Amino acid sequence: MGNPKAFMTIPRKEAGYRPVSERIYDFGEVEQTLHREDRKLQASRCMDCGIPFCQWGCPLGNKMPEWQDLIYKGNWKKAIEILHETNNFPDFTGRICPAPCEKSCVLSLHEAPVTIRENEAAVTEVAFNEGLIKAQAPAHRTGRKVAVIGSGPAGMAAAQQLNRKGHHVTVFEKSRSVGGLLRYGIPNFKLAKNVIDRRLTQLIEEGIVFQTQTEIGKDIPGSRLLADYDAVCIAIGAGHPRNIDPPGRDLKGIYFAMDFLSQENELLMEEELTFSEKISARNKHVLVIGGGDT
Ligand code: SF4
Repeated sequence: MGNPKAFMTIPRKEAGYRPVSERIYDFGEVEQTLHREDRKLQASRCMDCGIPFCQWGCPLGNKMPEWQDLIYKGNWKKAIEILHETNNFPDFTGRICPAPCEKSCVLSLHEAPVTIRENEAAVTEVAFNEGLIKAQAPAHRTGRKVAVIGSGPAGMAAAQQLNRKGHHVTVFEKSRSVGGLLRYGIPNFKLAKNVIDRRLTQLIEEGIVFQTQTEIGKDIPGSRLLADYDAVCIAIGAGHPRNIDPPGRDLKGIYFAMDFLSQENELLMEEELTFSEKISARNKHVLVIGGGDT
């Protein structure tokens, strides 16, 4: 903990969004990044609590106090190493996580919490820009083969962990491109596709094989997978939407959010549409039911 009084003297400062006048001309990420010196000051607000509730609040158990201190000291290399101990892809979570860590931050009892999520994204950006994130192929191969079904964040993380243990890993993906929810569910303005692609490049360099447009149970029977591989990891996500059934549910123009979002992503990637009907909100009044991230 480099500056024990920073939480009393430095206010929370968020990077904020790009101006609307600029954003309307592209589909790029809207969140900006802070200057490195500002980011260090933000990290210095971490109080290094005796009981780090932020770490408990994080589903991954990220070690916030440790890497906040490293950001403050400008040791980005060590910061990304500590982050990677608990999180394969802090570049994804740093952009799209709802940040329960910040809700758990002790500082938030009487002040604005530490900008943990933004700090997490900042560490990965510095690390990628400075070439600190490299492929880590295993030194030895075990000779065992593992099939991972699904290439979303869970499938990618499982594949990386298994590959680093030395197993031969093949990831099967039914869609045209790798990424699952990251690529087809989350719009570009929150998570740009090149952020997924640079991780994909790393995973391929580490030796993971990706087989897209291959649906297990349809293109390849599950029995063949079980015969050909020593283990199978199912990471197919929760693709079925939760329906409601009020009167009028069968009227035209009612869609599940994921059908709309994945179609928009397919359009932007100039991929063939998988949903038979083109959904357009142009010149329409739209009612959204549900106030979550989706
Ligand atoms: S923003 Fe990062 S540190 Fe916070 S809860 Fe999400 S993954 Fe964990």
